[in-house]
Amino acid sequence: SHKLCMIPGPIEFHEDVLNAMATPATSHIDPGFISTFGETLEGLRAVVGTKAGQPFVVAGSGTFSWDLAMANVVEPGDKALVVSTGLFGDRMVDCLKVFGADVQVLRPEQLGGVPSTEVIKQALAQDSFKLITVTHVDTSTGVLVDVQQVANTVRQVSPQTLVAVDGVCSVAAEELLMDDWGVDLVMTASQKALGCPPGLAVVVASARALDAWKQRSAPVPSYYGAWARWLPVMQAYESRKPMYFATPAVQLIMALHVGIKQLLARGMPKVYAAHRQTSDQFKRTIQVLGLETLPLTESVAAHSMTAIYYPTGITAPDLLPRLSQRGIIAAGGVHPVMAPKYFRIGHMGLTALEPERQYVTKTEDALKASLQEAGYHLTE
Ligand code: PMP
Repeated sequence: SHKLCMIPGPIEFHEDVLNAMATPATSHIDPGFISTFGETLEGLRAVVGTKAGQPFVVAGSGTFSWDLAMANVVEPGDKALVVSTGLFGDRMVDCLKVFGADVQVLRPEQLGGVPSTEVIKQALAQDSFKLITVTHVDTSTGVLVDVQQVANTVRQVSPQTLVAVDGVCSVAAEELLMDDWGVDLVMTASQKALGCPPGLAVVVASARALDAWKQRSAPVPSYYGAWARWLPVMQAYESRKPMYFATPAVQLIMALHVGIKQLLARGMPKVYAAHRQTSDQFKRTIQVLGLETLPLTESVAAHSMTAIYYPTGITAPDLLPRLSQRGIIAAGGVHPVMAPKYFRIGHMGLTALEPERQYVTKTEDALKASLQEAGYHLTE
């Protein structure tokens, strides 16, 4: 029988999302599909809080959303400031370098922290950066960055710098108001809080990000990822007209359409509140079990997932197979140095939104039983 996929993405799917994919072959220029795609793009704007931002939805995983943003915005020699709170921030450095950026990285003093506003302010004041990137939730550490505060700091100190957010593990789980906060690039993917199977990369670009692309002098070093090829396609679908550059992932877009409709029917403020409540409940249980989480303080702890240290004497092979036997799939650590010391649970999308939170409760019960079976002495 199906084991609950409680990793930080892919997550459990709503049956309506899955049914949307169980459709007969459909042309990518079928009138019905054209409206589905058009509504999906309109819905994405509402999810990330922008009126004029330009969404791009292209087949690829979350990593491709980085290429789809950076290949178009970054030119060789551009200075980029990366706020890295884990593995995905460090990978962003590699990605930016591929496109020729001159990268400066800010890391917290200790893993589980976030570089302070003061440190970010100083770095911004000392050089002229084309863009700053932050990982909203770094899935390797479960650390949440206050994107609004970073964007405010940028506006005060270096208003011309573009603010780029890796929202792969946060969009539709953590509040994000692109226009109000002044965010220029949001990069995300279908398989996390948007509630769909993996396979779609999503970028939403502000007018400023589009201007940076229009004003670039170096050619865009990508064929499939070039905005010049995708922008007319996205505009065509939104105006309910057919247009082809490369075949869209028709069934995945049908699934994303349902996922987004479900989110918007509930309303984003309620979606964010549900993620907070679910996360609070889960983290309370972790605390009651006497376990510690990787983020150094509550204020930098994500609401989409939790990274938890194994207690002394318990290792991954003691715990993860026992959870699996109880029907719960959890994820190990992924940070290069810390990986063997912690595991991760995702509680976003459906798992946060279903009213009884039964998936999370089942996970808590399985965790308790598995720890006890592994010889851990509960402090309760
Ligand atoms: N950024 C973050 C924050 C992620 O969590 C992930 C995936 N875990 C990625 C980027 C890369 O996404 P993908 O694995 O879909 O390529």
